[in-house]
Amino acid sequence: MARRRIIAGNWKMNKTPSEAVALCAELKDLVKNDAVDVVYCVPAIDIVPVAEAVKGTNVHVGAENFYIEDKGAFTGEISAPMLKDAGVEFIIIGHSERRDIFGENDILINQKVKKAFASGLKPILCCGESLALRKAGVYQEWIKRQIVWDLSDVTADQVKELVIAYEPIWAIGTGETATADQAEEVCKMIRETIAELYDADTAEAVRIQYGGSMNAGNAAELLSKPDIDGGLIGGASLKPDFGQIVNA
Ligand code: PEP
Repeated sequence: MARRRIIAGNWKMNKTPSEAVALCAELKDLVKNDAVDVVYCVPAIDIVPVAEAVKGTNVHVGAENFYIEDKGAFTGEISAPMLKDAGVEFIIIGHSERRDIFGENDILINQKVKKAFASGLKPILCCGESLALRKAGVYQEWIKRQIVWDLSDVTADQVKELVIAYEPIWAIGTGETATADQAEEVCKMIRETIAELYDADTAEAVRIQYGGSMNAGNAAELLSKPDIDGGLIGGASLKPDFGQIVNA
């Protein structure tokens, strides 16, 4: 079964609402490709104007964060029903910046994955190792442990709709990219882990992205690997290069 490629931009804390609309206009013709799922994961305040700006195009809207409750006294937070109502389809969960800067652990990340599915949002679940863990040679065990925790009580049918992003922390925003072979080694291991936890059909269906300084120059080689079904792109998602990645 051929998996559909998914190229998602993670805009992070960049772009005011008016800048976001301008970026959508700049990228509009560059990201046209009916064979690929294209997603813009944008800051919460940009969701409504971006959803409006991409209406009628092939671009899907994603969010970068949410909280696990539907409503209530959670000052500063945004809920899954709010995201759904605003037109969001995808949600990034477990990004290393949320884990490291905002202290999100695998228990919360697992709650978020379950809540996203229960609310009709598709998670892009991030995992990946630090440079220290890679140098220590324990990166595979680390990532496997993240997957096991983050998918606790998540069903096979849900995992078939899941996107997993392998994002080595040492390659995020550093300009240093994992080689295509390094990225494929881990993405393959993630698929094997899904086969062990679930079954062969589920492993075959789950889409796995690589993320970490993917750009117009290295995308084609990374995306040519059998277990890499797409990319999660930070810096290059804010530039016309994103169109080249979509069409790599
Ligand atoms: C990211 O933060 O998800 C990411 C991959 O960033 P960059 O492409 O800038 O390394």
